[in-house]
Amino acid sequence: MRLTKLTGIVALGVLLAACGSSTKTGEQAAAPGDSPAGSAGALIGVTMPTKSSERWIHDGDNIKAALEKLGYKVDLQYAENDIPTQVNQIENQITKGAKLLVVASIDGTAITTQLQEAADRKIPVIAYDRLIRNTPAVDYYATFDNFKVGVEQANSLVTGLGTGPGPFTVELFGGSPDDNNATFFFNGAMSVLKPLIDSGKLVVKSGQKDFATVAILRWDPATAQRRMEDLLTKTYGGGAKVQGVLSPYDGLSIGILSALKSNGYGSAAQPYPVVTGQDAEVASVKSIIAGEQYSTVYKDTRRLAAVTVDMADAALKGGKPEVNNTTDYDNGKKVVPAYLLQPVVVDKANYRKELLDSGYYTPAQLK
Ligand code: BGC
Repeated sequence: MRLTKLTGIVALGVLLAACGSSTKTGEQAAAPGDSPAGSAGALIGVTMPTKSSERWIHDGDNIKAALEKLGYKVDLQYAENDIPTQVNQIENQITKGAKLLVVASIDGTAITTQLQEAADRKIPVIAYDRLIRNTPAVDYYATFDNFKVGVEQANSLVTGLGTGPGPFTVELFGGSPDDNNATFFFNGAMSVLKPLIDSGKLVVKSGQKDFATVAILRWDPATAQRRMEDLLTKTYGGGAKVQGVLSPYDGLSIGILSALKSNGYGSAAQPYPVVTGQDAEVASVKSIIAGEQYSTVYKDTRRLAAVTVDMADAALKGGKPEVNNTTDYDNGKKVVPAYLLQPVVVDKANYRKELLDSGYYTPAQLK
């Protein structure tokens, strides 16, 4: 699937990139000697964080298939959220002679040494979905508009709470603090929720509102479940009910809903609060259809893979990968040229159109 060309923005991105002072491994890939012919059949290293969440399995499969279709060889690795494992995988790929790396990092700050090694060998690096931080040795970033993901989660939470005057009791969850996306999601959500909290329409009854307090390390569903159990016992023990939960990821939403269920929510007399999510994972879409989880944010991983593969192919052939954002993703060392895709909120009203009509899932998968 090809994307609309945003030629003007791309040209600007290229111009800005050309003005930067840090090492540009993408440009080095285009240096004399790295002819298009040299890229034929090249090995590309792809590292994904974990198979414990189905989105990363789709991402990996989609990238591998599309790169292989273009004639590349692909080494695809998963690290089960273990940082040293991912570090080793990247090191191995460099040793095996990978000509380009696509990395969805576990901890966006933990792979600087390996990426410097890649830069020294003129191996372009594409950060996939998650920004790699604190290194100049990242050339491109393919992702969704992460701030907007948070805005959409919060808008959906507010929509789900309804048009009444409130106040509504809500609790907030954040993603993993070592994943750059997690703060973007939270800040996006808070840009919508904070004014409502300040005006008293929304009440975070636990008082836990800052990212560091509500963040869930490694996006672990069991940790989210425990935190929800604690909130229900300590804050809602006296009979008060929670009416909304901002959850940034479907895996956490499933954990949160289990805690709610074991505390008596989910009946006609005591319905579940409005619970958001992200990734449109099968279990969560089924939960939405069943009237449990309220919504999710659908990010079409097929399109993200297509953008990434286009970037990789262009970089390896000495061309200029297409980007549409050259301002928002400062990794601490440079602003990484990025291609941002748009997320879509999915709830019971539009899941058929977004997920079935688009062929993302078959009806049988959601039965
Ligand atoms: C991704 C989300 C995902 C989360 C947990 C984030 O970096 O952008 O799509 O829900 O990681 O895997």
